Amino acid sequence: MGNKQSDQLLKESLFDKYNRNLCLLAKEIPSLNLDTEKYYCPLCFVPYHKDAIYGPNSLLTLEHIIPQNSGGKLCTLTCKNVIMI
Ligand SMILES: [Zn+2]
Repeated sequence: MGNKQSDQLLKESLFDKYNRNLCLLAKEIPSLNLDTEKYYCPLCFVPYHKDAIYGPNSLLTLEHIIPQNSGGKLCTLTCKNVIMI
């Protein structure tokens, strides 16, 4: 991706953006019992606190939605727990 500083800003932006959407969803469908303080990994649905985007060994990393070598530019946050096939 970009440099470390721009990657970190993108991670914060994505976390906050998806958290706002999560809050809207939680309000509309309370029976989902969503933790609105967290971000749910789109691949495994494990919730992570914002701390997970910080540090050299952060648990949430930036990943291209469509592989970069196929021209993909959009990124999202996914956790390191997912083993890509
Ligand atoms: Zn995950």
